[in-house]
Amino acid sequence: MSQPVGFLGRAAAIVGSEEGAAVDRGARQFTLSRSLALAELPIADDLRKRARAIRLRSLANLDRLLSRFTDEATAAGCRVHFAGDADEANRIVAGLLAGSTLVAKSKSMVSEEIGLNSHLESLGIDVVETDLGEYITQLAGDTPSHIIAPVLHMTRQQVGRLFADKLGVEYTDDPIRLNRHTRETLRGVFLAADAGISGVNMAIADTGSLVLVTNEGNGRLVTSAPKVHIALLGMERIVGSWDEAGVILETLARSATGQRLSVYTTVITGPRRPQDPDGPDEVHVVIIDNGRSDVLAGETAEILACIRCGACLNVCPVFRTVGGHGYGTVYSGPVGAVLTPGLMGPDPWWDLPYASTLCGACEEVCPVGIRIPTMLLHLREQAASEGRLPGWLNRGMRLYTRAAVEPARWARLRRTARRLSAPFSVRGWIRRLPGPARGWTASRDLPRPAKTSFAEWWREHRGA
Ligand code: SF4
Repeated sequence: MSQPVGFLGRAAAIVGSEEGAAVDRGARQFTLSRSLALAELPIADDLRKRARAIRLRSLANLDRLLSRFTDEATAAGCRVHFAGDADEANRIVAGLLAGSTLVAKSKSMVSEEIGLNSHLESLGIDVVETDLGEYITQLAGDTPSHIIAPVLHMTRQQVGRLFADKLGVEYTDDPIRLNRHTRETLRGVFLAADAGISGVNMAIADTGSLVLVTNEGNGRLVTSAPKVHIALLGMERIVGSWDEAGVILETLARSATGQRLSVYTTVITGPRRPQDPDGPDEVHVVIIDNGRSDVLAGETAEILACIRCGACLNVCPVFRTVGGHGYGTVYSGPVGAVLTPGLMGPDPWWDLPYASTLCGACEEVCPVGIRIPTMLLHLREQAASEGRLPGWLNRGMRLYTRAAVEPARWARLRRTARRLSAPFSVRGWIRRLPGPARGWTASRDLPRPAKTSFAEWWREHRGA
């Protein structure tokens, strides 16, 4: 399917659709669960402050933490690799998989970011996603629409039809039976896979450990059944100590799904020891930069403090309307609107920071208090100064600025706007604006400029 270009084009295809409605329903449910889970804590704001301090400290000491992690993980028997960009990461993983034909994979956003699956498949390696949502996405030939719930945009009826079509099973929309079909297919994959690939929720510098958080247990199977485990680690996903990791874990599940803790928290410190009953013989950690160093050096560095809980997506009115596919890339919602142009450059992603009402809900719910609206404004300013905005908007903003800074000129403009709006107004409301402004009134009315401004009213009634 060819994608309409730009955020507005993609969004227009989703607004009002079944996909948009499914995203809205799911996101509202996540938001409610999050609120209930946080309400259990005596002082949720205290947890947020501690989590924020930990993540900002990690970013400030990233070089030292990565070096410590590398030493400790190597001492524990892991092999640590560094990849500067997506191509290098893909080359490293492909090299580690030489001779392999089947790979079991658990959820990893960074693998989506670097396009790992398609690279491995081009080399003849069969990659099977084992997270339920990712498995459905892969079967559908689709892309994830949410960072923790890849198929938030699908209904269970759609999943039932997909399974009937692709797996040849009898149609059902019963989640238990759908899960059973998935489990039956995937058990064989875990046992037959030459290697397992996983993401990493958090690495711990002090002990060289990897922490994976899942609800389905697939992460545990991917990292223990095959002989080789390859962990993909975005280089910012690191903390110093276990005490710090505990604070992040306490807030992650509550913010993401409203759970006190995810069902499985898997900790991996090196490969299988001789006395261990199972586990991989080799553990490789691929630490991926892919634009993160540039982000860290810039005005939006704080976005790297993100712990990928998805809470900002769930409360965002834009995300709830267009879903992840509207953003056209791996990281969607408010966090994606900052992270994507940072990691992948402004072309063609410069318009994502405009996919926000700047209502501030994202910052309010973020468990690490990332100042997303401030960064969105900075990126908008950058786009405007680089001349990326349409000519009509640039000219309009220049005119607006000239009028808004001069009271007499502003009063003239208001009177003119009131006069010009007369043909479009009914009982004080404008139902339909012409030209480029028509989008504003496509789904709501606009009040007609008042006959008397507030300043005039004040002068008249208070005599000031
Ligand atoms: S920016 Fe904050 S709210 Fe959004 S996904 Fe990251 S940690 Fe969660």
